[in-house]
Amino acid sequence: MLTAEIIAIGSELLTPTKTDTNSLWLTEKLNEIGIEVKLKTIVGDDKSRLEETIRDALKRSDIVLSTGGLGPTEDDITRTVSAQAVGRELVYLDELEQDLRERFKRWGREMPEINKRQAFIVDGAEVLPNPNGSAVGMLIEIDNKIFGILPGPPRENQPMFTNFILPKLREKAGEIYVRRKLLRVSGIGESAVDEAIAPIYKSYSNVETSILFNKSEIELHLSAQSKSESEADAILDELANKIVDKLGVAVFAMNGEKMEEVIGNLLKENKKTLSIAESCTGGLVARRVTEVSGSSEYFIEGAICYANEAKIRSLSVPKELIEEHGAVSAEVAEAMARGMREKAQTDYAISVTGIAGPTGGTEEKPVGLVFVGYADEFQAKSFKILLPGDRYLIRWRASQAALDYLRRQILKKMQ
Ligand code: ATP
Ligand code: MG
Repeated sequence: MLTAEIIAIGSELLTPTKTDTNSLWLTEKLNEIGIEVKLKTIVGDDKSRLEETIRDALKRSDIVLSTGGLGPTEDDITRTVSAQAVGRELVYLDELEQDLRERFKRWGREMPEINKRQAFIVDGAEVLPNPNGSAVGMLIEIDNKIFGILPGPPRENQPMFTNFILPKLREKAGEIYVRRKLLRVSGIGESAVDEAIAPIYKSYSNVETSILFNKSEIELHLSAQSKSESEADAILDELANKIVDKLGVAVFAMNGEKMEEVIGNLLKENKKTLSIAESCTGGLVARRVTEVSGSSEYFIEGAICYANEAKIRSLSVPKELIEEHGAVSAEVAEAMARGMREKAQTDYAISVTGIAGPTGGTEEKPVGLVFVGYADEFQAKSFKILLPGDRYLIRWRASQAALDYLRRQILKKMQ
């Protein structure tokens, strides 16, 4: 497999305000044709450091791509330093200067003399035209390696890479297709997921699997390489199915869908309706549900009942229940769901009540204690969780727990 590295050039990229995004875009394009990026470097406008970086890169990697520093000013050093690093001269191309003069004329300006610098290229390099700017790019083939030198602005380097470098790399990489799949898992921890599925994914040498924890769910990123797209897809499907066999209902998305989309699809498929009563999540659950286009088909009503009076008045939660068990309790969560469902006349209702913190916790009821309620035509029930994190995370995780609880109940009913 071919390896690549990317060098982002420019002192502004080493300041706290400017981010190197060129390498992200290039990495995506390289990955798509089965080339792995092994290293990225950001170098300021410093001749000796840049020369060293280019030399090292060409020793290590089959493909080296640089962006930036091709402008006409004194601090644009890529052209001269690249020539030194590969041990070649800079040569002057009259047609480049004439072309630049033409461009400036079209812009109604005289070409400043310093732009003449942009008419120099590394000896033997292929010139890559730049319709969107004044700096041409260069492609140097040296010892069976490819060194692509691109300008900094994305609108200049992206078309240049796509039109002139990508076809060469595709040829060099051979017919390799990379396909990806994203599975999402809820209700199990990261290590437990890895322990359960590592023996499965490790047996697929042509699939790269990475496991990420994201706020309230585990993401399984699968990436397969093969000689054809359909073969890569078939490998991914096979692996994904084995993972689902192992993890079961905890896998809630097979193609990167969000929890609220999964809920939406389940409700639509079963022609069921939903209402939501929230306390500590303050509308977050309803917001997530309604972020899905078409949610009006199944989402009927939501209520944010923060104060005890509101729970009593709007959701018919018995006053005595709150007095006896407290607003954050299994009993009140159930009563909230039951009351919401009756009021909105929906098939399902879910509710959330908890302590998001950082204040308001007690020994008996600590910050992060959350009860999720559920009601359908036959029953009302609840479950208790203790969520870690700050206020933002606790509220987010509570919303996820509520939606996941609903999902599991719907699936159970479908069996
Ligand atoms: P120019 O001829 O425009 O000067 P250049 O090749 O000299 O082109 P730079 O001067 O290094 O490029 O960068 C020009 C602009 O391109 C920067 O101000 C920035 O907006 C953008 N740019 C440069 N490098 C990157 C990068 N790695 N990621 C994202 N944007 C970048
Ligand atoms: Mg510049």
